[in-house]
Parts: sequence; C-alpha cells; structure tokens
Amino acid sequence: MNATVPVDGEHDGGCLCGYVRYVITERPIDAGFCHCRVCQRSSGAPSIAWLTVDVAGFAYTHGDVAVYRSSERSQREFCPRCGTQIAFRAIADAKTVDVTICSLDDSSRVRPEYHIWCESKADWLRIGDELPQYPDDGPDVT
Ligand SMILES: [Zn+2]
Ligand SMILES: [Zn+2]
Repeated sequence: MNATVPVDGEHDGGCLCGYVRYVITERPIDAGFCHCRVCQRSSGAPSIAWLTVDVAGFAYTHGDVAVYRSSERSQREFCPRCGTQIAFRAIADAKTVDVTICSLDDSSRVRPEYHIWCESKADWLRIGDELPQYPDDGPDVT
C-alpha cells in the first residue's frame, strides 16, 4: 500500500496554538481517511486523515499532550491548550502510532490512499476522489 503515500525525510508538525510540536523521522507505513464515529466525535469533522508510522519514528519535541482513552484499547493525544488532535495509538504495547496528517507543517507530503469506516460516513459527504472505500477498517495497519 505504500507506493504513493510516503515521502522520505523528516516531517515536522504541531497543534494550532504551537504548544505541542512533534517530529516524524521514519517513512510512514500508510495513510488514509477514517470516517468512524469516534474520529467524527473527537474532531467535530466528517473524517480525519491519518498517517501511520512506527512508534520509533514519532516523537514529541515540545509540550505535554493530554490523553483521552477513546476505547478499551486505544487512546487519543491532543493539545491541552487548543484541542488539536495529534495522535492515536494502542494503550499497551503500541507498535505504531497514527498521526493527523493535517497537523503536519506540510500536509501535502503525505497523501491518503483509502477511506475506511465508510459505513458511518456522513451521508451528505460526497467523496470525489478515486481512492478505494471500505465499510470497515479495510487495510488499516493499526
Ligand atoms: Zn495547541
Ligand atoms: Zn476513526
């Protein structure tokens, strides 16, 4: 799945207010839009575009994120000052971390490859790209 997504090199990113900053130092494994209800509720938006990277390739460089356990097994990390959602990972033994693509300083460098959880897609949202759409978690590696 990684033919089109990742661009080599370091990626910097952060939240809206600038308190939380992070760096991605490994090539992302994959990337896609998630239309699940948890992403919708937690962002207030119809979907979130995520990239997935090995945990070793992601590090916060400034600020202390707030953590919300959004399910029994996973947590979401966000800026405690401005609320920007930054990351998603397993609570225990996370091998990968998902990072919100639009919190990158240059979101054009990682391109989504698919849409997942389309069974809960907002019914007024018209997907205009040619990417594959999956009703469930599809090829997501997390
Ligand atoms: Zn912030
Ligand atoms: Zn989701």
